[in-house]
Amino acid sequence: MVSRVIPVDSFDLVVFGGTGDLARRKILPGLYRRFLAGQMTAESRIIGAARADLTEEAYRAMVGEAIDEFVPKDRRDAAVIAEFLARIGYVSIDAKGSAGWDVLRDKMRPNVVRAFYFSVAPALFGDIAERLHSNQIADAWSRIVVEKPFGRDLASAKALNAVLASHFNEGQIYRIDHYLGKETVQNLMAVRFANILFEPLWKSEYIDHVQITVAETVDVSGRGAYYDKSGAMRDMVQNHMMQLLCLIAMEPPYHFDPDAVRDEKLKVIRALEPVKPEDIVRGQYLGAKGEAGYVQHSENPASRTESYIALKVNIANWRWKGTPFYLRTGKKMRARASEIAITFKEPPHSIFDDAKGWKENVLVIRLQPNEGMELMMMIKEPGPGGMRLMQVPLDMAFADALGVEAEDVPDAYERLIMDVIRGNQTLFMRGDEVEAAWAWTDPIIQGWEARGERPQSYDAGSSGPEDALMLMHRDGRRWREIKE
Ligand code: NAD
Repeated sequence: MVSRVIPVDSFDLVVFGGTGDLARRKILPGLYRRFLAGQMTAESRIIGAARADLTEEAYRAMVGEAIDEFVPKDRRDAAVIAEFLARIGYVSIDAKGSAGWDVLRDKMRPNVVRAFYFSVAPALFGDIAERLHSNQIADAWSRIVVEKPFGRDLASAKALNAVLASHFNEGQIYRIDHYLGKETVQNLMAVRFANILFEPLWKSEYIDHVQITVAETVDVSGRGAYYDKSGAMRDMVQNHMMQLLCLIAMEPPYHFDPDAVRDEKLKVIRALEPVKPEDIVRGQYLGAKGEAGYVQHSENPASRTESYIALKVNIANWRWKGTPFYLRTGKKMRARASEIAITFKEPPHSIFDDAKGWKENVLVIRLQPNEGMELMMMIKEPGPGGMRLMQVPLDMAFADALGVEAEDVPDAYERLIMDVIRGNQTLFMRGDEVEAAWAWTDPIIQGWEARGERPQSYDAGSSGPEDALMLMHRDGRRWREIKE
């Protein structure tokens, strides 16, 4: 099946930080892929804006190299790349200065969608927003896209929201959480709200617990100094994992409409109970076989920042009272795997003698690798010899089921940028959501800072600290194995 491609309106997209890592790895290759797919109109333009003093030719060459490096060979078509590059411009601009802004203004065309992607450090958001206004580059229909991290606590997130709000209204601000652009994450909503099957069971009466795992094999080398100021709680839990939790836990919105969806997510965040210190395990990876460990990578021998965190989260509302959500994420883990696992309760009564063979039904939503879903079901073990039970997965890898190659499933950034152009904010975080998430996160971080807690060590390539296992074992549960 070939996925439908609906062209978006013509646009001028300015990428501030257009020479940076994110632009080179994700934004520009993603735009090329949308162009290749026929989604970008021929009139659309992309304008890189960064500090470097580059000619437009030199910038196009840089974009061409990024495509060579980050788009698979069989998706690179020399003629299409040349056409794509012809739509690219560049302006040398200093976010904090005055040079370059008039050049940018002259490049913008009337009667097309104007979008400004702030792929720069958040400290520059205010400067850019202010100059877009004072130079009359942004109008009431323009959109701005802002990257994470959106603050490092409630106070800084509020300050950032206030700066943006002084130049743009909420309907113009697209706060990216690229997890929301993942195919499977959106499928979570389709599975829940387009099928009658799960929704009646989607509550504490039938669901024993939920596990959300985001395990990475990478370490923090190269960005250790940055990461050391953040840690797993700020880098992953406050945003990505919180969003996943919301999509699982939220009530059905009245319509698949940006504010209706975000209102329901917000209610979940507000219903999160404070997390008790004994329900949190923090870890830091050790070096293995002569490799550097976290403290070497962070260049801070006294670092107390966590590269791993596991926590038990309770939601205080009618639907979820009594069903814990266990979250864990870490660097340098044994495998790169992200999944949500929803474990159902046991049937009220077993008619079979083979009680030992019984295992829980688990709905697993795999975000990576190999996006898809799996429903663990009990069946009869084949053959004679009585009624013995066994568990098998009903497995649906999306790429197989839909007949598309994994490489053709649009990357999260591609989808999200096209949503910006369409003016659809459903998959972007609203300011109040971000603030509510920090309001829940802040006391947790302040608690371990006040207690002077050090994270526990864990071996590189393991499943995390021992105590994380205990977090589940003491509740009579166990983590799912982390495997690719
Ligand atoms: P980077 O350091 O690689 O690039 C920064 C860009 O900003 C460069 O193009 C640079 O020229 C430009 N810049 C810096 N100071 C400027 C100024 N005064 N005026 C104009 N331009 C200026 O950073 P990055 O990794 O591309 O990250 C950009 C943003 O995206 C950051 O907010 C980061 O937190 C966020 N982010 C990055 C990634 C990633 O994978 N790289 C992932 C998620 C979020």
